[in-house]
Amino acid sequence: MSSGTYDVIVIGGGASGMMAAGRAAERGRRVLLIEKNKELGKKLSITGGGRCNILNAESDTRALLENYGEAAKFLHSPFAQHGMQDSWDFFLKRDLPIVVEARKRAFPEVQSAPAVTKVMRNYCTSNNVELKVKTKAQELITETGGGELRVVGVRTNQGDYYGQKIILATGGSSHAETGSTGEGLTWLSQYGHTVHEPNPNLVPLTVEEDWVKTLSGTTLSFMKITFADRDNTKATRFSRTGKILFTHFGVSGPLILNAAHQVKQLLAAGPVYASIDMYPDTEVGTLRNRVLEVFNKNKNKSLKNILKDITPAGLAEAVAAQLTPELAESKVHSVSREDRQALVDRLKAMPLTITGTMGMDWAVISDGGVDLTEVDTRTMASKKVTNLYFTGDVLNINRPSGGYSLQLCWTTGWVAGSAV
Ligand SMILES: Cc1cc2nc3c(=O)[nH]c(=O)nc-3n(C[C@H](O)[C@H](O)[C@H](O)COP(=O)(O)OP(=O)(O)OC[C@H]3O[C@@H](n4cnc5c(N)ncnc54)[C@H](O)[C@@H]3O)c2cc1C
Repeated sequence: MSSGTYDVIVIGGGASGMMAAGRAAERGRRVLLIEKNKELGKKLSITGGGRCNILNAESDTRALLENYGEAAKFLHSPFAQHGMQDSWDFFLKRDLPIVVEARKRAFPEVQSAPAVTKVMRNYCTSNNVELKVKTKAQELITETGGGELRVVGVRTNQGDYYGQKIILATGGSSHAETGSTGEGLTWLSQYGHTVHEPNPNLVPLTVEEDWVKTLSGTTLSFMKITFADRDNTKATRFSRTGKILFTHFGVSGPLILNAAHQVKQLLAAGPVYASIDMYPDTEVGTLRNRVLEVFNKNKNKSLKNILKDITPAGLAEAVAAQLTPELAESKVHSVSREDRQALVDRLKAMPLTITGTMGMDWAVISDGGVDLTEVDTRTMASKKVTNLYFTGDVLNINRPSGGYSLQLCWTTGWVAGSAV
């Protein structure tokens, strides 16, 4: 079955696909948007814990781009065409004002991710994008001639569709239940594209120690965590300070998610040894004096009963579990100077063994995707296959959490939609 020829076919109705389709249609193109789910924007609707960290409000584009690491040098042109302020204005114009929180993370004022999906869906439908949901693209239809490989259409479970330009917006491989299963990327290798293997990123970490699991649900807002290999070599050691969330399998929260990329590299050589400094702002000598003061005031209490006065809220039991039962029950006046020092050392460096990541189902994004050297980022066009374009998570761009992923979707979607 063939269903006519479109100017543009967008495969994937996520954040970047909707932006690309809406933009192309707004420019008068006849656009078909193909989505295998029964609704658009399934992943977008769960972003930011249901609130959607819609962008990062860093107004200095150079500073914003630094967050994209190696990819930054490829992104100047697309961000010059559609940067943070353009996305901000885009949503404001569509009655979705944005508010800014800590670390310039920006959210819709209504604090609703589905509201963002609704705006994007309307952007498509109000510009007459033809939607085909429950339609799964199975492969690209290509032609060769004149020394080039051209894409001319898409084979789907509902038939073949032909278009002048095809935008691949099928996403990465994280949270497969939202539809991002990575098959779009598997098609590309056969066309000579270098596709970096998807790998979970911005992902929680699993740990060996049971005390962590007993703290499940506890968030500690100001901790420093240091990661290193088994030998604690300087070359591998790195630290992060911020919020740690303890879970039933290990650790999570923004600090952990943003460290996951580097931790994964260390994990390739075996377990990673981490330590948590519960008082990163306090010198060890000052902490020692503080502990001594608490000891002096509570000489006749048992050590385990005063731990809550020297540990951050919620951690007393975890620290108690690290002591021998005899020491935990000892009266404070009988605790030796060495044991007291060992306790201070624990507060400054609570050991933790990182055994792995929680994998793709828990990853906010997947690393990997099309190598940017093979994309003309002024248009998002493939340099290998004529008339093929890429947007969003299909591209190999590593970035932290904080609104940087969706900003990429708005930017690359807009640029591709403007070029086709
Ligand atoms: C839990 C979670 C929270 C997040 N929170 C944030 C946040 O607050 N801020 C932020 O910036 N980023 C966040 N992200 C990352 C962000 O959601 C993604 O970067 C973004 O959604 C990627 O959009 P995309 O359009 O590239 O791909 P996706 O959103 O993955 O969309 C791809 C679409 O293509 C469809 N598709 C795939 N294959 C086919 C096929 N063969 N045929 C037809 N359709 C197909 C899929 O069903 C899907 O709808 C979060 C991610 C997760 C998982």
